Amino acid sequence: MQRGDELVPGANLKAVEWLSDRERKALSAAGLETVADVLHRVPRRYEDRRVSAPLASLVNGETYSLSVHVYSAGWRFSYKRYYEVTVGEEGNPYGARLYLRWFNMPYVAKLIATGMKLSIYGKVKVFGGKLTMSNPDFEVMEEEDAGLRLAEIALGGSVAPLVAPAEGQERVHTGRIVPVYRAISGLAMRSYRSIVWRMLRELAQEVAPPVYDVAPAYPYRQALLDLHFPETEESSRKARMRFALAECFLQQFRVAWRRRRNQEQSGQITATSDGYLEELQASLPFALTQAQKRCVAEIRADMASPRQMNRLLQGDVGSGKTLVALCAMLLAVESGHTAAMIAPTQILAEQHYHNFCRLLRGMDVRVSLRTAARADDTDYLAEMEGDTTPRIIVGTHALLYKKNRPVDLGLAVIDEQHKFGVLQRETFINCGHNPDVLVMTATPIPRTLTLTLYGDLDVSVIDELPAGRGEIITAMRNPDNMKRIVAFMQSELAAGRQIYIVSPLIEDSEASERKSATAQLEHWKTVFPDEPMGLLHGRMSADEKDAVMAAFRANETHLLIATTVVEVGVDVPNATIMLINDADSFGLSQLHQLRGRIGRGAHKSYCILLSKSKPGEPGREKLEVLCRTLNGFEIAEEDFRLRGPGDVLGTEQSGLGAVRFAEWLSDARLIHRANRDATQILDSDPELLLPRHQHLRSLVATESSLSVIG
Ligand code: ADP
Ligand code: MG
Repeated sequence: MQRGDELVPGANLKAVEWLSDRERKALSAAGLETVADVLHRVPRRYEDRRVSAPLASLVNGETYSLSVHVYSAGWRFSYKRYYEVTVGEEGNPYGARLYLRWFNMPYVAKLIATGMKLSIYGKVKVFGGKLTMSNPDFEVMEEEDAGLRLAEIALGGSVAPLVAPAEGQERVHTGRIVPVYRAISGLAMRSYRSIVWRMLRELAQEVAPPVYDVAPAYPYRQALLDLHFPETEESSRKARMRFALAECFLQQFRVAWRRRRNQEQSGQITATSDGYLEELQASLPFALTQAQKRCVAEIRADMASPRQMNRLLQGDVGSGKTLVALCAMLLAVESGHTAAMIAPTQILAEQHYHNFCRLLRGMDVRVSLRTAARADDTDYLAEMEGDTTPRIIVGTHALLYKKNRPVDLGLAVIDEQHKFGVLQRETFINCGHNPDVLVMTATPIPRTLTLTLYGDLDVSVIDELPAGRGEIITAMRNPDNMKRIVAFMQSELAAGRQIYIVSPLIEDSEASERKSATAQLEHWKTVFPDEPMGLLHGRMSADEKDAVMAAFRANETHLLIATTVVEVGVDVPNATIMLINDADSFGLSQLHQLRGRIGRGAHKSYCILLSKSKPGEPGREKLEVLCRTLNGFEIAEEDFRLRGPGDVLGTEQSGLGAVRFAEWLSDARLIHRANRDATQILDSDPELLLPRHQHLRSLVATESSLSVIG
């Protein structure tokens, strides 16, 4: 390799002359445009192909990396034509033999001949008493005219170089720890690996990382080498940590930057006096829990300050977040501001609305509802006519339509925030001028992840459930034992309790959802012919759903057969059984949410997980977790471990889309270190004017100061 045409990470792939058009096209289709894009693409895993065994010790079915000598080679015919290469240990002509066979790969014949030394990797199979390998990965080691053969192939045009181009003895695909990447369509793993290899070889010596060097003591170029072609497992681990830290740093830096901008932003004073709050508390049949009181106080302090509030209210299912939010909304209204709460489903919005109307009965506070199905008309019209009396507005996504948007919003509350996209949240918040923002989530998020995802939010946690809650028993049952389960359900019904029966969505088609839900209903009607029951599924109109929920809430129906539409927020304290069909097909957090529908009153409640799974089978572990604990934080932690945070939270919503190094999510030290580094930079150079912060400045220049969440 000559100096002078060294690669730099920022270089476009168009400038990499040795890439073929076909390769360039495949890379670009995979979203890779620059050298850095390729080099920052992390191996999915590694294969240890360092020489591992003497030939005599090979075992059928095992995979080996071997260094061998070619004793003979030639075409064979059996049911198929293939090229066979007989290999053994060098200098041992009577020793053990291994037969390498290549099917449908005629070019191999041009590369391998008697007398060569090969490095190979593949799975051993015994055929007719012979040890064989089919289509093993290989590299020709000492071979004088390898270059010539390569040239021949190059004329044929379709094969990537099989021998490392620069030093003939350096192995790329065998005889070392080899990276394995996520497949790129139109590009063989081997070709892709060769491309990465060659880019690394040609990378300029003194190359700097693109934005900021998080670990100057560990040169970037070396770290890239260790990431892709590590000498040892330890060096790949070290490299992954370095890049994980870099990624984590950028994420924390953005968050720290946003947080500072938000602090500068002047908001509104939306809490002035506590008259409404006291009135509400006096009329409640119960007292707020200590945790609720603390959260209200924290929120109140934010609202009373001219700084914009950005607060996350966390609490396990049933911890009473809604009431805390209502307190905040009352503060806003009393101080002369409109407060609005957005909820992800019509059922929830209606529930909040009815709930608020009931709780605020007799108080001089207006509450209105806005969903696609209905805007509660009189109030809405009054507002249209310019009546801007402060009020509480509850709604669904419909609140985001221009004609429904709250005017002059002072407090924006987002319930079940992970159900909304970043844009939706922003549209909602922008209904006011820097309104105070309260977001609520019932997917409890482990502490470290809160810092990562919501480092720019203040956090209040309701870490206590209201007193007087009935116990919840969780049990796994085989559906073959339905008789006993039915008898038990019967006894609960006889005691006046209500029951949810939930089934997973089998297919995401309208017809099938309706059909399977209806079939469930028919089935349960034959089991409990005298019990009134309701059916709830996602394909019903909002009004239908509403009527079904209202009937269940009013105890007019005793069983509710449902799909996951009851997953979030629904609150019917008299329901004591949650029966979940095919429980293993739900996610862990989702099951916890479903279970959160019961145990909301004083009665003992039962969550029955129906599943045919056996211990050790996939899907079983999460059911066991659920039976073991009721603690949502613990469950979320397990869910993150089992599925990864992106899947649990939904990558789009969580803002985790870009995370390639999942490692750092589970490593609190990295997050804290990144957070500390980011803070130090912003303390020492708040406007990022120093030349070495130039890239960081351009990084945040594109940030919208309002994208406070996500
Ligand atoms: P989540 O946090 O899951 O959204 P909710 O806000 O729906 O929980 O509250 C669950 C139930 O607990 C509701 O029926 C609510 O009225 C009741 N609740 C809230 N706070 C208290 C309290 N301090 N004492 C007793 N019950 C409460
Ligand atoms: Mg809720």
